[in-house]
Order: sequence, then C-alpha cells, then structure tokens
Amino acid sequence: MIFGVPFDGTSSYRRGSRLAPNSIRKAYDNLESFDPFYNINFPDLKICDLGDVTVGEDVQENVDTVETIVSIIKKDEKIPIMLGGEHSLTVGSVRNFRECTMVIIDAHSDFRDGYMGNPLNHACVTRRSLDILGKNRIVSIGTRSVSREEYESGRFNEVRFVFSSDVRKKGIDSIIDDLKSVVSDKIYFSIDMDGIDPAYAPGVGTPEPYGLKDTDVKRLINKFAKSTLGFDIVEMTPLYDNGNTSMLAAKLIQDFVGSRESNANIY
Ligand code: MN
Ligand code: MN
Repeated sequence: MIFGVPFDGTSSYRRGSRLAPNSIRKAYDNLESFDPFYNINFPDLKICDLGDVTVGEDVQENVDTVETIVSIIKKDEKIPIMLGGEHSLTVGSVRNFRECTMVIIDAHSDFRDGYMGNPLNHACVTRRSLDILGKNRIVSIGTRSVSREEYESGRFNEVRFVFSSDVRKKGIDSIIDDLKSVVSDKIYFSIDMDGIDPAYAPGVGTPEPYGLKDTDVKRLINKFAKSTLGFDIVEMTPLYDNGNTSMLAAKLIQDFVGSRESNANIY
C-alpha cells in the first residue's frame, strides 16, 4: 500500500523532497514491468497507490497524520510503503511498529535529541526511534556523518551504527552476516536516499560522499524484505537530480516488492 507525503518543512540544506513522491511514481512507470531476477511481472501484483496525504506546515501534525494512516493500513494487514518527504515522517510510521527491529539506510546518524529547537527535526529520527523501540533494536547502515555531540551523547552505542567504510572494507554480505543476531524477523525498513553514494543518488537534501553502493542496498532489501512489515523511502529531492535518484528510488521499491513476492532463490 503506497502513499506519498509531500513535506520537507524541517529540511536544513537543500529542500525539495516534497516533490519526490510524484517524481518517484513517474520513474516507476518507466521501469520495465517484468524482472527476470524475481521472475515477476509487476502489474500482476496487487499494489495500491493511495496518492498523497494532505500535509500542513507543522511537522508534529504531519507525523501524527502518518501515524494514523499507517495504523489503518496495518490494521488492514497490508504493508505500508511511504514515499517521503523528509525523514522526520518516519517517526509517525515507527510508532505503529513497536514489535519490530528497525533497519535504516542513512549517511547521517540522525541522533540529535533536538535540532533547531525541534525534537522532530529530520536530524533526530534515529534518536526518536530509539525512544520508541528501545536499545539494541535499531541498525543504521551507511553512517559517515556524525556530530561530536551525537557521538558523545552516552547513548550512541544503543543503536548499531554500521559505517559505510566498514561496508566497503568487509563487503555487504559479511555485514549482513554480522547483523543476524540484531535484526529480528519483524522489521521496519527506512531508506534515507543519502545513505547511498551521491554518485548513484545525487538528488538528495544533504549529500555526503563515500556512501553505499546502490547494489549494497538492493542486497539488504533482498535479504530483509520478507521480514519487513513497514517500508519507507525519504529525503530524495528531484530539484538536484539528474533523473537517476528518482529511478533508483523507484527501482528499490520494485526490489522490495519483488523480493517479497518472488519464489526465486534471490538470496
Ligand atoms: Mn541522511
Ligand atoms: Mn536521515
């Protein structure tokens, strides 16, 4: 069950993620409908797009709206796929998944307790999710931008941050092996597109060099999709894109759906 949230009100650097949902939809429509890797013809699947949520200026209200929408989708035993919008929106979704461990893709630790006077700023998502889920239940992969304040918060090790340099050194399959003991069979999966290297994903609000490869993220999706109960893609902005980031976001959604539905041995 797909829905878009065109909100980027707390974005600190390059805005435009409010334009991402439609940009990702357009890219999705241009993807080939069949994928032999999954042996799936995507139009045959039951995927519903609810369109965009009506958003206001207030981040708190928008996060509450996301919480409500996701709770309805979840009650209906469907899998919510949220197209952001900025990363703060994820908090509303996570409130519905207290039984889950969380897998985040992000360049940033997003571990500030507040930013620009706002505890729901997009730079605080991991910290807010920790408040909801508790320690040792969040894995954030692709980390390479952390403030000293976050690093020395005394709680930094309550989240398993996997630095992008470690992914490069060890390879994603070995990282996935390491994570077996942390990640449960119920997952909330949040992809901040800036976790991926700007070479693959230039159209993001706060680009950060030395990131993950697109195929690293595909591999993680292949591995974890069948255990995932909620999914989002955030922080993509078409205003700084050459078209590749929308296409990659659309492809990752296809990978998510394909990984869930496929009977092929994809991992
Ligand atoms: Mn980020
Ligand atoms: Mn983020």
